[in-house]
Amino acid sequence: MAEIERMIYMDHAATTAVDRRVLAAMLPYWTDHYGNPSGVYRLAREASRAMEQARETVATILNCKPREIVFTSCGSESDNLALRGVAFAQRARGKGNHLITTPIEHHAVLHTAEELRDRFGFELTLVPVDRYGVVHPDDVARVIRDDTVLISVMYANNEVGTIEPIAEIGAIARERGIPFHTDAVQAGGVLPLNVDDLKVDLLSLSAHKFYGPKGVGLLYVRDGVPLWPMQTGGGHERNRRAGTENVPYIVGLATALKLAYEEAEENNRRIAALRDRLIAGVLDRIPEAHLNGHPLQRLPNNANFTFRYTEGEAILIQLDLLGVAASSGSACSTGAVEPSHVLRAMGVPPEEAFGSLRLTLGRENSEEDVDTVLEVLPPIVERLRAISPLYEARERGSG
Ligand code: PLP
Repeated sequence: MAEIERMIYMDHAATTAVDRRVLAAMLPYWTDHYGNPSGVYRLAREASRAMEQARETVATILNCKPREIVFTSCGSESDNLALRGVAFAQRARGKGNHLITTPIEHHAVLHTAEELRDRFGFELTLVPVDRYGVVHPDDVARVIRDDTVLISVMYANNEVGTIEPIAEIGAIARERGIPFHTDAVQAGGVLPLNVDDLKVDLLSLSAHKFYGPKGVGLLYVRDGVPLWPMQTGGGHERNRRAGTENVPYIVGLATALKLAYEEAEENNRRIAALRDRLIAGVLDRIPEAHLNGHPLQRLPNNANFTFRYTEGEAILIQLDLLGVAASSGSACSTGAVEPSHVLRAMGVPPEEAFGSLRLTLGRENSEEDVDTVLEVLPPIVERLRAISPLYEARERGSG
């Protein structure tokens, strides 16, 4: 098949293009209103006003107080600040030493929790998930101890798109008086973020997942939740995160979040219809294809498949040659390709977890894009299976 005339981008869970309206809102804060928001003169006050306006915009969407928002440099930093900040502050108050999270978290949470365990002596419990990647609130309740100082469960999974029962878990955490953090990076701009409805005490977001710039995020911290800063210096962000604030990016984050929610209903409906067309088409055209993640309780833009007897990385390369940008759950670490930790936690055997493909749709995708992928993907999988010794053995009836 000849190369597709234009690129088809289906990796929106990785990042999104900056919305031009967002870029336009950001530009003056580099060149015209460039003051340091900590200054006292007019130029500084303009920058400070824009930043506080951004904080209010975000607070309205999260239904929280503006002072409960800490702007950060990305989702990873927000997750780090939530886990380290609360864990150390709680331990210093004699509250205990035990952390709870799940094995399907993004590495920004998982590796941070593991580091707190391995280098700082915290105890860590990972709550198992079911085969759809769902965390069950009863399972969280079961592992809570008197010395538990923080629970962290993601709102929606970045690989398989499963949406977690955050409000139910939040109710359990609240009853036991334990701070509850959710990594909402994949939910931002798509799912409701009302922190009272969700019953969360801390929530992470990252602007580049909702058509804002890369390199800016936020952490919501409910008033009264103890949090040590992880970056010290000046008293920025109410002593929770030192460093001159990145005003243009903060303006970009708030503008992007506002636009995303103004347009969420229409976008979610349209994108979910494309996703359903894609899922139905793939399962119909490719034998032994399996949809990963929860069939219904999933992000509107996520389709994640495993194709037995193939390797996700090989599919990605073939798709890229044709102009389709997608992703697989496997990660390259220390030079070797590792199967997705999310699929492994869901009980998918390693040899199958290697053959996963994540297609995440976005605002600019069309039905035509979906149909093109449905046309090019089946022959790719077929060709890869044709050269797979395992597939050959199975065809002969001995595999
Ligand atoms: N958490 C989740 C669920 C993510 O999907 C990502 C990014 O892919 C992050 C955290 C990290 O965000 P950032 O890229 O802004 O550091």
